[in-house]
Amino acid sequence: MIWELPVVALRNMVIMPGVTMNIDVGRPKSKRAVDEAQSADRRVLVVTQKEAATDDPMPGELFEIGTLAVIKQVVRLPDNTYQVLVESQERVRMLDQVPGSYLRVRVETLDTQPGNPDELRVLMQETKSAFEEYQRQNKTLRLDNYQLEGIKTLTSAGALADQIAHHATWTLEEKQAVLDTSGEQPRLTLVLQHLTRDLERFNMDKKVAGRVKEQMDANQREYYLREQMKAIGKELGGGEEGPAEVEALREKIEAAGMPAEVKEKALKELARLERTPGGSPEGTVVRNYIDWLTDVPWSKRDEEILDIVRTRTILDDDHYGLDDVKERILEFLAVRQLTHKPDELDEQGEKKQRTAEERIEDSELRAPILCLVGPPGVGKTSLGKSIARSLNRKFVRMSLGGMRDEAEIRGHRRTYIGSMPGRIIQGMKNASVVNPIMLLDEIDKMASDWRGDPSSAMLEVLDPEQNHTFQDHYLEVPYDLSQVMFITTANSLQTIPRPLLDRMEIIQIPGYTMPEKLQIAKRYRLPRQLRGHGLEGRLEVTDAALQRIIEEYTQEAGVRNVDRMISKLARKAARALLETPWEGVKTVDAENVPDYLGIPLFKPNRMEKEAQVGVAQGLAWTSVGGTMLVVEALATPGTGRINMTGSLGDVMKESVQAAVAYLRKHATEYGADPEFYKNTDLHVHFPDGATPKDGPSAGITIATAVISAITGRPARMDIAMTGEISLRGRVLPIGGVKEKLLAAHQGGIREVIVPKDNEPNLQDLPESIRGELKIHTASNVGEVLERLLLAAPEQPVSPPPTLSKPAQPGASS
Ligand code: ADP
Repeated sequence: MIWELPVVALRNMVIMPGVTMNIDVGRPKSKRAVDEAQSADRRVLVVTQKEAATDDPMPGELFEIGTLAVIKQVVRLPDNTYQVLVESQERVRMLDQVPGSYLRVRVETLDTQPGNPDELRVLMQETKSAFEEYQRQNKTLRLDNYQLEGIKTLTSAGALADQIAHHATWTLEEKQAVLDTSGEQPRLTLVLQHLTRDLERFNMDKKVAGRVKEQMDANQREYYLREQMKAIGKELGGGEEGPAEVEALREKIEAAGMPAEVKEKALKELARLERTPGGSPEGTVVRNYIDWLTDVPWSKRDEEILDIVRTRTILDDDHYGLDDVKERILEFLAVRQLTHKPDELDEQGEKKQRTAEERIEDSELRAPILCLVGPPGVGKTSLGKSIARSLNRKFVRMSLGGMRDEAEIRGHRRTYIGSMPGRIIQGMKNASVVNPIMLLDEIDKMASDWRGDPSSAMLEVLDPEQNHTFQDHYLEVPYDLSQVMFITTANSLQTIPRPLLDRMEIIQIPGYTMPEKLQIAKRYRLPRQLRGHGLEGRLEVTDAALQRIIEEYTQEAGVRNVDRMISKLARKAARALLETPWEGVKTVDAENVPDYLGIPLFKPNRMEKEAQVGVAQGLAWTSVGGTMLVVEALATPGTGRINMTGSLGDVMKESVQAAVAYLRKHATEYGADPEFYKNTDLHVHFPDGATPKDGPSAGITIATAVISAITGRPARMDIAMTGEISLRGRVLPIGGVKEKLLAAHQGGIREVIVPKDNEPNLQDLPESIRGELKIHTASNVGEVLERLLLAAPEQPVSPPPTLSKPAQPGASS
């Protein structure tokens, strides 16, 4: 059907068929068209112009398809525009222009081509629910329930498409496209496509928005928690893991020169620290751990000076005498110097990892570990220090005495509160270089019990095949001890576990003679103490005074107490100098010594030299060196009982039994009553009863005292002796000859008897002592007694006096 209609051009809007709405008309040509329509059948063509900017559009500037509408009402507004209520009816196509003073065109109505009803029904269903969803999600679309119900109840597919296109927030072009499509099915399909597209967009927007929101929520939550944590930390008085601290730790890790594996571990712990709240106990544990990892040296080392001549000079500077010991140390270092292989470096300048074979070969070549053995105060520690100084290496000392727990060496696992690395790693931290000299003091005093055996851990430390991967429980990562030089010390070899002993090169330091002590005191300790007390040039101590100090104020194998006494003397002198100042140099001579040190602690060891009945002069060896030991025996009429006092061990009791048995066999030889074992009670006593004593080496001394008591023949006291006795009277060899003879010499004895089998040991004796001591050897008790027992006097001699000796710790004979 063809119509001739006045045209109202629309800007920015498309009017769909079936819609009633107000449009504002302001342009003169459009107003004229409205006027014309009103004066005729009220029909107009409303059609959208392609460009909104065009003021007076020609038909070519309008879309081809528009809507035939009926004007329902025109309101003339005060601004001279019309507000026109139109009811659009059907889509029409513009055909041509009808000439005239306003735009008037001919249009034809478009046929609606109905589609497949079934398909249309499904399509409508889908479109309706899509639109329902669309209007729910589209925030800019405001449909009231009445409008919505209206759309949902539509039964015409074409009308449905047009209504939706009217409400939807689509572009002009999109709406025009719907208007352009006259077929019902294609039009509805187009509308559904647009709806689906929009729904997808909405969904996507929602997802993105959701994600953004989630992100924001998470951030906010974390921030909130952190703030709370900080607040709690502050309340508890803790600091907070500021980024600055973490950075500082990171720098420390970078600078520590760790092996890659250790560094990785450290960085992992650092990441953990970052995650833990400040002030929390866990944070402290982790930080401590990182501190340990970074404080232990991993690659820093001192350049070693291997120069035997220099070492010799330094050892001599620091120590008097000890020629054998220094000789041995120099030999030891010489071997080290000759077999020392510098670490091979690879292309990157990193230390090359050695293969297992190389390591074993290396460790076989490597000199064993030095072990300095001797009584306290003989200079073991200070020798260690001198070695370190001469090699230009750091020195760390670690006492193993009384250590009974493996964990002391290896540390505790980090799971324990307050756990720490073991002493080895602590020592390394103190050394701060990977190649210190580590002195392991008193390795003979390590004990083992249910807490584990520290000596097995020690074995690992000292074994060059194992110690490059030393395991500390706290540190968790293996630590390389292979560049450490270990020196051990011990008072006696007897309690060192065998496997440890096998790894060590033993150097014995027996103790000093009186003249040696005097020289040490005079040349080394005294000058140092005077300097230390500000008395240089103000005080002088004569040799006689020093000698008196050594003899009457100390009794030891080493010089530790001598040093202590000199220091005490210097202290008193320093105070005196301030209280009553003196001019020039003040001299301390032997008779002034008590003014400074009080009454003498020991009587000079030159004791009874007169022969007595039932007394014999023995020599014993204790952990603090050799000492003199007197044995007393008393025979009284009785029934043959034997009584022993003075804290004797079983071995010593057996020695008494052996002496009695020997005498029973040889009674007549020595002029004893052959029935003495029936009618005489015997009491054997070792003075200084509080100190437990044991060991076989008092055998011949006991025999002498016992036989002297029973026969009534006095025994010489100016000869000291040592030796084990067998039932048949043989004299068996004993240990510690050198130490015992030194003690005898110091005690003023000039004649001694030792077992024949100990003859080779005499070579160790210092020349000075050998010259002054008359040494007899004996293989049989008979020889001993012959030398010691005098003829029985006419009348009985006075009973032996009670000899008192100062306390000696743990004496064994
Ligand atoms: P140890 O470790 O054997 O118990 P120290 O090394 O502690 O003994 O020695 C104790 C003191 O005696 C130190 O001050 C040391 O310098 C000094 N000393 C020991 N022997 C000598 C010596 N031969 N010459 C100089 N001083 C010595």
